[in-house]
Amino acid sequence: MIKVKGIAAFSTTKPLGPFSFERRDPKEHDVVIEIKYCGICHSDIHNVRSEWFPGIYPMVPGHEIAGVVSAVGSKVKKFKVGDHAGVGCFVDSCRECDHCKEGLDQYCLEGNTLTYNAKDKEGNVTYGGYSNIIVVDENYTLKIPQSIPLDKAAPLLCAGITLYSPLMHWRVGPGKKVGIMGLGGLGHMGVKIARALGAEVFVLSHSDKKQEDALKMGAHHFIATKDESVFKQYAGKFDLIINTVSSHELNMSNYFNLLKLDGTLVSVGAPEKPLTIHPFPLIIMRRNYAGSVIGSIKETQEMLDFCAKHNITPEIELITPEQINVAYERVIQSDVRYRFVIDISKI
Ligand code: NAP
Ligand code: ZN
Ligand code: ZN
Repeated sequence: MIKVKGIAAFSTTKPLGPFSFERRDPKEHDVVIEIKYCGICHSDIHNVRSEWFPGIYPMVPGHEIAGVVSAVGSKVKKFKVGDHAGVGCFVDSCRECDHCKEGLDQYCLEGNTLTYNAKDKEGNVTYGGYSNIIVVDENYTLKIPQSIPLDKAAPLLCAGITLYSPLMHWRVGPGKKVGIMGLGGLGHMGVKIARALGAEVFVLSHSDKKQEDALKMGAHHFIATKDESVFKQYAGKFDLIINTVSSHELNMSNYFNLLKLDGTLVSVGAPEKPLTIHPFPLIIMRRNYAGSVIGSIKETQEMLDFCAKHNITPEIELITPEQINVAYERVIQSDVRYRFVIDISKI
């Protein structure tokens, strides 16, 4: 077994703190990654606080993992020691269902193995990236292009792919008007990727504090939604809106009304409490309401290569492990610019 140093949540309410544990020795197809950086996703907070389902404690969160390969199993073909490697939200799937066979392993019909707060096929609890070492099957490990610094690569593994996947699925490109609801970790990646795809990009933000940042990131327009008159002004304009908001406190009819005939609003934000939806604004313009979860391993690799090619990296604030609890509070206050990344060397 490999001894690992981590940071864990011990209950829904106590602050996160140091936790030592063990990981399996590498099997034939495993890579051992020395973790250098791990992003803080709002999902970490939902999980730590058991907002979606009862968590498994101690819980080592973290699914935006970037590091360097330090050992490989005897049959590993895709990685060698010294390679830059990444791990996202899941570390295994059934590999046999129709979705897995089609390369849509994020929608595995058996349910994939989440990177943390889950049990793997052997029934062992999975521990995430707020730790210095992880052992993952090579088929669920990503290659991080050399041109992307590891600290900036980390948030791509969840925030990046969660926006890339719906932007690709709904064929965003030149001539399309795209709205991004919420300029946080996910939202700001959506702005950068949608811009690189050639769309006209609008940020829909509940504060007016982020306008300058949004335009610098590549948004063409910034809409502060606290002024409700904007919903009339922009009614019927959008082809696609992606909702990254972590809160349920949204008047969804206002946002549906921003869509054109046949336009689509995709929820990726996953609030603790349900959203209230009235079907009328969908009915009257044949609008669509959809959801999307992260992306497949194949698509995540494609996204990393796309970001390298287009020079896309997240805006990050590097923190030490001791600052995680303060960072969580700042994420909840929408005061993150725009992703906290933990420097794991300080663990
Ligand atoms: P984040 O950095 O906290 O960003 C969320 C943004 O939502 C905030 O920056 C804020 O943007 C907006 N917001 C927050 N509270 C609001 C409120 N009361 N009313 C209106 N807007 C509000 O979070 P994140 O890491 O990007 O994650 C966002 C959500 O996506 C979380 O629920 C997370 O669990 C989920 N998620 C889903 C997937 C998936 O696969 N579907 C993957 C990763 C994460 P403004 O200040 O600009 O309004
Ligand atoms: Zn995430
Ligand atoms: Zn499957």
